[in-house]
Amino acid sequence: MATTVITNISSLVTNDPSLGEGPLGTIRDAAVVIDGDRVAWVGTSSKAPATDNRVDAEGRAALPGFVDSHSHLVFAGDRTAEFNARMSGRSYSAGGIRTTVAATRAATDEALDANVRRYVHEALRQGTTVLETKSGYGLTVEDEARALRIAAAHTDEVTYLGAHIVSPDYADDPAAYVDLVTGPMLDACAPHARWVDVFCEQGAFDGDQARTILTAGAARGLTPRVHANQLSYGPGVQLAVELGAASADHCTHLTDADVDALANGTTVATLLPGAEFSTRAQWPDARRLLDAGATVALSTDCNPGSSFTSSMPFCIALAVRDMGMTPDEAVWSATAGGAAALRRTDVGRITPGARADLALLDAPSHVHLAYRPGVPLVSAVWRAGAREA
Ligand SMILES: [Zn+2]
Repeated sequence: MATTVITNISSLVTNDPSLGEGPLGTIRDAAVVIDGDRVAWVGTSSKAPATDNRVDAEGRAALPGFVDSHSHLVFAGDRTAEFNARMSGRSYSAGGIRTTVAATRAATDEALDANVRRYVHEALRQGTTVLETKSGYGLTVEDEARALRIAAAHTDEVTYLGAHIVSPDYADDPAAYVDLVTGPMLDACAPHARWVDVFCEQGAFDGDQARTILTAGAARGLTPRVHANQLSYGPGVQLAVELGAASADHCTHLTDADVDALANGTTVATLLPGAEFSTRAQWPDARRLLDAGATVALSTDCNPGSSFTSSMPFCIALAVRDMGMTPDEAVWSATAGGAAALRRTDVGRITPGARADLALLDAPSHVHLAYRPGVPLVSAVWRAGAREA
């Protein structure tokens, strides 16, 4: 296996405080040695060992590839008109998620696969090397299983979200839909997924339904994660913590008891500022969660309705500008935080033995991700040791 050294890195975020300065373990004038798909060595450039290949970073900063722990990429269709109406102050009465469900059901496997491939690559070019994605726009046994099969061709982090909304086919009988989601649909989907998720919200699934769905998924070996407390206060966050969910996602409307639960549990609070940006909604209060001691992740929520961005740098900039995070905290949450939300220790860090996932920035430090919002700073990406972009 060939070894490669990347030298002359102005500032390297390792996310291991024992390796460098501060909580990000930042090393100045750094080098990274990649051996196959792993990081073999990190340290200062002048001490780098000899390798087969050499890449000169020319004073760029480097950080772990972003870990985007929440996206919805298996979809077809377009909701430009809905977004345009919302941003133009006009009401829009089309069906929201239902619009995407209809388009997704009508799409061919090839079209859905091409869409996922496109957005995974789009994210990769912006530095994302691990990306979770979900079903949830099929809402039939066959369409949900199909979505997960297609997702699994592009990522190991696949989430069963048959409980995205009550299928329009069951509008008059939500209980029967919960039976489907926890019965035949789960049977068809469990083999293709690692996680089970539910949209616990008024108008979607209440706390009792969410508990039923998550418990059924867990019994089939799927670990829970929850869309919780996005649009209103509710039981989602505390249910997630109680059930040992890997992550409670959104966390926009939190009581003190919700914050305490997250601070004292093992569930990561995943914040998705693209959703608040794209719906002109109230920002989640990252500062409150961090000050309480919760683990916070940042993610894109990339989906065609409420957050059509695949850009983790954009989410970092929003989190710093509007959610009370420092640049260091936001970068940690977009890398190590995302890894924690996916219960991964092999990614989200640049340390010996970790998977060699890293992004080079056309900037001298990771702070520029927030300081220079909207600028395409990611100039090179390695995933599992392979130069990808
Ligand atoms: Zn979501």
